[in-house]
Amino acid sequence: MITRSALIWMSRHEGFKDFATRFQFFKKLTTRFVAGDTIDEVVPIIREINAENSTASFDHLNESVQSLAEADNEVAEYLNILAKIDEQRIRSNVSIKLTQFGLGIDPELAYRNARKVVEEAHRRGNFVRVDMEDSSVTQATIDIFKRLRAEFDLNTVGIVLQSYLYRTLADAEELVKLPARIRICKGAYNEPPEVAFPDKKDVDANYVKVMQLLLASGVYHGIATHDPKMIDATIDFATREGIGKEKYEFQMLYGVRRDLQKQLARDGFNMRVYVPYGKHWYPYFMRRLAERPANIWFVMKNLAKG
Ligand SMILES: Cc1cc2nc3c(=O)[nH]c(=O)nc-3n(C[C@H](O)[C@H](O)[C@H](O)COP(=O)(O)OP(=O)(O)OC[C@H]3O[C@@H](n4cnc5c(N)ncnc54)[C@H](O)[C@@H]3O)c2cc1C
Repeated sequence: MITRSALIWMSRHEGFKDFATRFQFFKKLTTRFVAGDTIDEVVPIIREINAENSTASFDHLNESVQSLAEADNEVAEYLNILAKIDEQRIRSNVSIKLTQFGLGIDPELAYRNARKVVEEAHRRGNFVRVDMEDSSVTQATIDIFKRLRAEFDLNTVGIVLQSYLYRTLADAEELVKLPARIRICKGAYNEPPEVAFPDKKDVDANYVKVMQLLLASGVYHGIATHDPKMIDATIDFATREGIGKEKYEFQMLYGVRRDLQKQLARDGFNMRVYVPYGKHWYPYFMRRLAERPANIWFVMKNLAKG
């Protein structure tokens, strides 16, 4: 049986990536998790999400870019997304990755590029979420986020923290003081036991601790999970503390637990769906398989059906 770490390792392997992305055949498998190739293909999907009483977050798939030109293209793509959201009157914000804007080339470049997108979001009254990547860039991501947050208000830019990292509770304590809008998730990369809890039960226990800290802070945060245990713990805590449903939102990924997404929205909870698109789908898709290796069978079954 193929393991989570093997799939995450494959997600970073250039050889596998080149092989998989060369064939249309593999791309067809991704449609459950990847909404399309272009912004225009995503718009009707987000319209449907909005019609189900949920909001969205656009994510243009790309990470670890290696050239200034590629990073520039990413900025241009996000400026187009922000314009499209207004033009089409859909309810969506955007999620970005700093390695997509050149963090691996030069942190200053990533800051400048991210700033262009955040500035445009600010001008349009929209919001940019800075996704969190692997632990080699956690500190750099937080540092750039803090610079952006010092220049732009609470409702223009936010960040993500991952409950599998030992450092996250301390990061959350520090960032809520800014204050900052935080998305808490469990974390999707392969991390060594020096930096991350190896046991799922500790990741979950830390998630609950951070979630409680966030909700109690009074700021509007994102509780990103498909795990019914985490969702119940959030609702229980909020009910106990008298924190209204409008004070936070649940967030889930496009294609994952759609039943639960709809149910929570029907029950009056704020629900945001993270909607990725674009041709650089490979690492994102592999991380989704890694979260639930049973997805491989789902994908194979669809393939067999043609
Ligand atoms: C909106 C959003 C944004 C995210 N942003 C980031 C980020 O910036 N950085 C980062 O490292 N990670 C990010 N993640 C991914 C996250 O870290 C987890 O890897 C992912 O959400 C799985 O964790 P879980 O909380 O759903 O719990 P798990 O314990 O992994 O899963 C709980 C249950 O959810 C269902 N499930 C979970 N994943 C899948 C899947 N792929 N396919 C089918 N069913 C599934 C299964 O029923 C599973 O039993 C994000 C997740 C969400 C929802």
